[in-house]
Amino acid sequence: MSHAILKSLGIGNEHSGGYLGQGEWSKTTDAGALQPVNPATGEVIATVHASSAADYEVIVRRAQEAFKIWRTTPAPLRGEAVRLCGEALRKHKDALGSLVSLEMGKIKPEGDGEVQEMIDIADFAVGQSRMLYGYTMHSERPGHRMYEQYHPLGIVGIISAFNFPVAVWAWNAMLAAVCGDICIWKPSPKTPLTAIATMKICNDALKDGGYPDLFFLFNDAGSDLAQAFVDDKRVGLISFTGSTKVGRMVGERVAQRMGRSLLELGGNNAIILDESADLKLAIPGIVFGSVGTAGQRCTSTRRLFVHESIYDNVLETLVKAYGQVEGKIGDPNEATTLMGPLNSQEAVQGYLGAIEKAKAAGGTVATGGKALADRKGNFVLPTIITGLKNSDEVIQTETFAPILYVMKFKTLDEAIELQNGVPQGLSSALFTESMKSAEKYLSAAGSDCGISNVNIGTSGAEIGGAFGGEKETGGGRESGSDAWKVYMRRQTNTINYSDSLPLAQGIKFDL
Ligand code: NAD
Repeated sequence: MSHAILKSLGIGNEHSGGYLGQGEWSKTTDAGALQPVNPATGEVIATVHASSAADYEVIVRRAQEAFKIWRTTPAPLRGEAVRLCGEALRKHKDALGSLVSLEMGKIKPEGDGEVQEMIDIADFAVGQSRMLYGYTMHSERPGHRMYEQYHPLGIVGIISAFNFPVAVWAWNAMLAAVCGDICIWKPSPKTPLTAIATMKICNDALKDGGYPDLFFLFNDAGSDLAQAFVDDKRVGLISFTGSTKVGRMVGERVAQRMGRSLLELGGNNAIILDESADLKLAIPGIVFGSVGTAGQRCTSTRRLFVHESIYDNVLETLVKAYGQVEGKIGDPNEATTLMGPLNSQEAVQGYLGAIEKAKAAGGTVATGGKALADRKGNFVLPTIITGLKNSDEVIQTETFAPILYVMKFKTLDEAIELQNGVPQGLSSALFTESMKSAEKYLSAAGSDCGISNVNIGTSGAEIGGAFGGEKETGGGRESGSDAWKVYMRRQTNTINYSDSLPLAQGIKFDL
């Protein structure tokens, strides 16, 4: 099946990992190779040749040339180019969604859903291309006009994580393109094939429409080239999605060269159920949030705080629901599968390690707690752990796997403090029927996360809102709302249409 999916996207058993522009893929074969593995079987899907330092130089040079043309192309016309990319993605949604499932391991509806997000953000960006608004201000000087405008930034570097192998690129690239920028992408070494397929789809659409190259790609066998990318002064913005550990280093290095960074890092997301919570809404929200994508979303639900009056009932209901999911673990491309594998063997080891740490800290495994070692692939059981404190080290750390820590609380104030009592600040949710509790939770004294919901879980987000988190999640925002501004440079302009030169603050400077 994997060959059929690859073939339908124009990818053979071996492929170049570098798109150099002008329809040309790098011919480098001596810079190492990436061999993405099907997480459901452990088999290598195909070989991708990594890019060399020389390839990277060609890419940056061509990106600089392309920028000179693109920055002066009218923004609504740039929107038309992005519209063509969205149309092409629509045509290839099924095949690309299947490839996402094959290479990353998420179930097919989630693979397709990821491609749909690319299409949605393309549509959003088309509209945005006519709305790159700046303010006008009233000048304090007579005969003067002031306004601000946004200009294209330059080259935008995108470094992405394995778990959203294509959507994150699109969130950045579609907006950056309408903002007049040229994008260079370094995808995760675990998912190079989805990146290659995406480049082919979008660049073919641009070429057919008579547009210049807007999107470049390189793949790195280690991290030397990625590091050089981060340090490269020619790259105006580095948009990094990945772990807090790598993201912290990226943020520090980009800051050192006075570049701009957008950091989308790890989460440690919590749901609170107060005594009035509607369990018909809450239980599916918790199960989807903690088990969906096998716990490999940055917004996955990792902690659950339940009011002591409903704790036993909620735990029992959740354990039953997890039992139903256990029967539907399998090949992500099978229609009946609810939970696919973890992406790698290291992730399985991370899952097992966290469970051991939790037990050593006094935790009890209420359900799950095991890898399915008798099967090929990286399958584990979705797991619930009770009996730990929020301050325990294993709970304070993001483990990228389907492990949910369930804890009790007495008052909403206590629950909010516990929820906020971790280094990360991405997504959060409260289930309540109390208007007062909901408002308190969303107030300045409530959740400290970048995303905060009421009666809907932590996982996933609509592209229309700005996406990102606080504290060690990095503070970046991408996708909807006014996230486009990070891809542009801002300029304040004053025009004097009078016959004199009044100085600001009434200063007299007689010459
Ligand atoms: P990771 O940090 O291991 O890798 C992310 C990217 O960084 C990869 O492309 C990798 O090759 C690259 N990289 C590694 N070393 C580098 C270096 N020295 N210089 C430059 N780049 C380097 O993360 P991962 O395992 O792929 O993804 C999972 C993590 O990503 C989780 O922590 C998850 O929460 C986070 N994530 C966050 C968001 C968000 O929007 N907040 C979204 C998706 C994933």
